[in-house]
Amino acid sequence: MFDVIIIGSGPAGMTAAIYAKRAGLNVLILEGSAPGGQINKTVLIENYPGFKEIDGPSLAIKMFEQISSLNIEYRYGNVLEIIDKGNNKLVKTDKEEILGKAVIIATGRKSKELGIENENKLTGRGISWCAVCDGPLFKNKEVIVIGGGNSAVEESLYLSDIASKVTLIHRRNELRADNILQDKIKNNPKINILWDTIPIKFNEKDNKLDSVTVKNKVTDKEYDINCDGIFIYIGFIPVTNIINKFDISDKMGYIITDEDMRTKVKGIYAAGDVRKKELFQITTAISDGAIAAISVKNDLNS
Ligand code: NAP
Repeated sequence: MFDVIIIGSGPAGMTAAIYAKRAGLNVLILEGSAPGGQINKTVLIENYPGFKEIDGPSLAIKMFEQISSLNIEYRYGNVLEIIDKGNNKLVKTDKEEILGKAVIIATGRKSKELGIENENKLTGRGISWCAVCDGPLFKNKEVIVIGGGNSAVEESLYLSDIASKVTLIHRRNELRADNILQDKIKNNPKINILWDTIPIKFNEKDNKLDSVTVKNKVTDKEYDINCDGIFIYIGFIPVTNIINKFDISDKMGYIITDEDMRTKVKGIYAAGDVRKKELFQITTAISDGAIAAISVKNDLNS
């Protein structure tokens, strides 16, 4: 029996674990993949205080080292279900069943898909969701980035140092990204922006990505663009399939909590990007994690 089971080991989950352990709780972190979550896919972080610049995987390792130094129990396992047993929660994974007095859901978000032809088939064969992982495969080659938010622009800037040419395809005539990033991308001679353009389908040759068919929304013209690689950054969806039966999320799937990270189900808390909020940042995720842990501690005490 653990005092608290934390599901997910991104910045929110790892921070919750640090605060819960230091508050004297018996803590377990469950993770289905690698510690760090989305930051593992982030090339360069420039807005995390204490580090003028740091790459995502390095920050993830530093957080994980801190978890390890506190002897926090960390297990791999995909959570399938949480069963509410009143004062206890039963967490079922693909390997075991574990009881906890409280559960903090810190499962984050996953990349949104375009849902167009050959997207899944060509993933790993030219289509990528992670510039930091796959960027080096496209040294001196031509790549396309799809999206217009902070992620698409940041990753385009990163890829411009590796690829011979980067084309950013955005569905509107104005970027969603922060102004500071917009200035950087518009002044980068290796990046070309295609405005008002939507991808229609990906085309293959010899079982690999060959080109993308796009449509200009203003002219209705459809045409193909040859490329070696495509990086898709069109936002995220929350990973909340394990809590569907609790009715604690909004219509987009984000978990609704009060400001102390409590959901309406006693003993279930949420922290980080999986939670309904305005600002999805590492800094807000770690803040959520700290608050959730202290709420668990206070609720168990009372
Ligand atoms: P985002 O802000 O949701 O932007 C997604 C982009 O993809 C938008 O430009 C959107 O177009 C476009 N898009 C969405 N669905 C599409 C579709 N089906 N087809 C074509 N284009 C589509 O996602 P994000 O850039 O991944 O950022 C997610 C969150 O993390 C944001 O809150 C962001 O601020 C934060 N973030 C912050 C930083 C930083 O502070 N340095 C870095 C990365 C991410 P529209 O603009 O037309 O909607």
